[in-house]
Amino acid sequence: MRPLVWFRSDLRTHDNTALARSAEAADDGTVALYVVSPGDWKRHDVAACRVEFILRTLKVLSESLGDKNVPLLVRTAPTPGDVPRTVLDACREAGCDRVAFNREYEVDEAARDDETVRLTREAGIGVRSYDDQVCLPPDSVKTGEGKFYSVFTPYRKAWVTEWTAQGGVPVLPAPSRQKALRLRPDPVPEEVEGFRSRVPSELWPAGERAALEKLDTFARERLQDYKADRDVPSKPGTSGLSPYLAVGALSPRQCVQAAHGGYDPTDPFEGLGPGAATWVSEIVWREFYTHVLVGFPRVCKGRAFQAASEAVEWSYDEAAFRAWCEGRTGVPIVDAAMRQLLATGWMHNRLRMVTAMFLTKNLLVDWRWGETFFMEHLIDGSFASNNGGWQWSASTGTDAAPYFRIFNPVSQGRKFDPDGTFVKEWVPELRHLDGPDVHEPWAHASLFEESDYPSPIVDLGASRLRAIAAFEKAKSKA
Ligand code: FAD
Repeated sequence: MRPLVWFRSDLRTHDNTALARSAEAADDGTVALYVVSPGDWKRHDVAACRVEFILRTLKVLSESLGDKNVPLLVRTAPTPGDVPRTVLDACREAGCDRVAFNREYEVDEAARDDETVRLTREAGIGVRSYDDQVCLPPDSVKTGEGKFYSVFTPYRKAWVTEWTAQGGVPVLPAPSRQKALRLRPDPVPEEVEGFRSRVPSELWPAGERAALEKLDTFARERLQDYKADRDVPSKPGTSGLSPYLAVGALSPRQCVQAAHGGYDPTDPFEGLGPGAATWVSEIVWREFYTHVLVGFPRVCKGRAFQAASEAVEWSYDEAAFRAWCEGRTGVPIVDAAMRQLLATGWMHNRLRMVTAMFLTKNLLVDWRWGETFFMEHLIDGSFASNNGGWQWSASTGTDAAPYFRIFNPVSQGRKFDPDGTFVKEWVPELRHLDGPDVHEPWAHASLFEESDYPSPIVDLGASRLRAIAAFEKAKSKA
């Protein structure tokens, strides 16, 4: 048997379920495939920096697979509809009698996979698919009534119970070197038309070795302080691993293992200090949002998780939206964060919440505009986490707060960037202001006038009241 392993968002050789299982079953070698799909990327707003990162990761993957004599075929499917046929053609060409892949759970991706399964089965080719993107399959964690969870805390509890019931979720080794096949790997394209990244590639070294080194350094040097440092955007307090998890250069199981000092735990939280326990909880948040999109697929179709919030009358003020996109709202912490995103393809989690709440509450702009803009710019863009984060921030999602939450960006800035280090890094117009003054430059009129930094585009107090009224109105209509 010769399986074709179709790689998608799992670009690694270690702990890759489809690859490991295929290599075990193969008696005539394993072949690998990646389908470059520009139409699919455009349709899903994939950022140019993310495409560039995928291609660089793919290059490293091709070399690692090559060391094991597994040739990586790279084919292009211009439109999403071309993907199933491209997989079948590659399968026939490489003499494969099975296709194996790790599942992707979003509605469009699942439909694409169903069509590929149908087409390949019709051609007499076997198919195997695996849960790999998350530690626990999304439908394996359910309430007592067999329902999907809609709130994080009980989900996390059930997730731990399921993990322990399984006796742990071990990390799988990379397959060993196989006999050479008479197939040559395809070159990996350096770039794909329509996706020119402006983010310097040195910021994000690609590949699973780079990911594992970053994980190892984080686990040794910063994990224990994670709980205290993770909300301070001027510190490297978080792991910065999200781009690697998003392309699958790293698996969530490898993260949990690293938090436990390199062994596979039977209980995912047992024995962890506060830093490591908080960090593993973040991995569970990632799993929760995947669980939500499988249980409530309407979120994949632009719909609000909370049906009642569909009635909110959002604003579609293009000028305000553009100011937010470009980091010139006149609210320093928001502008600093948006500029960080544009320059690096990444934004600190605390600031993702602050900027998303500012857009959806103070500007009352439809959260879907912000969600799309983030996808178009994030190197770690992942539908489940991005949609989950946006809907949580917009109070249309899974937040357990009664029905409405709003951050004040000035207080957030003062609390999490007390000496203004982060703002000054990204908003040089305010470098002349002292420490916490940077968060409210309009209150220091004489100093402020010297700068060409804009005045706030919205009154924070009045816009807060407007948002509360808009949500109350929607609630009364429901
Ligand atoms: P760490 O703090 O080191 O956390 C480790 C890992 O846990 C992360 O790499 C990530 O995979 C996961 N994680 C951490 N926080 C969350 C969270 N709140 N929700 C889900 N997973 C989490 N994350 C993405 O990976 N892709 C996105 O497109 C994305 N969009 C977001 C949009 C908004 C509006 C918000 C509020 C959050 C979003 N997040 C997204 C979640 C979070 O902001 C990032 O995962 C985190 O900032 C990545 O940095 P890190 O790797 O240093 O995280």
